[in-house]
Amino acid sequence: MKLTSAQKKAHDSAMKKKFKAAAFDIDGTLTDIRKFIMPGHLIKTLAHIPGHVPLAICTGRDIEHVQTRLQHICDAGPQTNEHRTRWFIFCENGGIGFFYDCRTQKYKKFFEIPWPNKKITQEAMQAFLKDRLGWHAVISIRTHSIIVHFPRPFYIFPRFINHVSKKTASRLTKIIDEMGLSKDFSVEDSGIGSVIIPRESGKGKAIKSWSEHLRIPIKDILVVGDQAQKGKNDAEFLSGDYGTSFTVGAQTPSVYPLPVLDSTGKKLWGPEGTQYLLEQIKFA
Ligand SMILES: [Mg+2]
Repeated sequence: MKLTSAQKKAHDSAMKKKFKAAAFDIDGTLTDIRKFIMPGHLIKTLAHIPGHVPLAICTGRDIEHVQTRLQHICDAGPQTNEHRTRWFIFCENGGIGFFYDCRTQKYKKFFEIPWPNKKITQEAMQAFLKDRLGWHAVISIRTHSIIVHFPRPFYIFPRFINHVSKKTASRLTKIIDEMGLSKDFSVEDSGIGSVIIPRESGKGKAIKSWSEHLRIPIKDILVVGDQAQKGKNDAEFLSGDYGTSFTVGAQTPSVYPLPVLDSTGKKLWGPEGTQYLLEQIKFA
């Protein structure tokens, strides 16, 4: 893959950097978007990162889903309290952040962006969207977000789901605009469904809160995702304003997110790219 001179400079400097924390999207980044499975060697690699620096999972999904995923990773690494206090979870596209509390052995909230009920309740928005989107849209209420996904058989065909997801996200954006709520909510396409979140929420903003919590410069955080294009759910996360970002999905015309390149200069995608990046990158 050919890099611009600005990208080459940013890439060289990122590969020399000693990162002080790392945050990862799940779907398409740690798992293959077609199979939803995390490769065994990547689980092992991830499990050892909190031995060096804090690690966060930053996703549109909810805490229950992430905890199950995280358990596989935690089980593959050391079970010490010191290690476990370096695990963080940011769910619902940055709507809620959790840290691991060793005393209670549970994840505890450390920030949240509430749904603005004064504008519209989640139930009212769900009912309205159900009416407009039709049978194929499954609309679920999460703690501080609304998720729009599709019936299970749709997920057998990755290209099809990607297409339906994109179309639905643009439809939702229009509907929310017609409702006069585009100043209050954003619609983000994850490639497998849409997440509707308050404007104050976002994966990038969660990384900013985290850098303040950890008291480390935001550029010293490595962030990796796969949906960086405009309107997608990693657009803010991977913009380069919130950490040093890499994508294992499609590139954008900007310098950030940087691509993951193998020794021959070939761009790597998905969990394979994340694994390769983690073998090359240095932690403080
Ligand atoms: Mg993703």
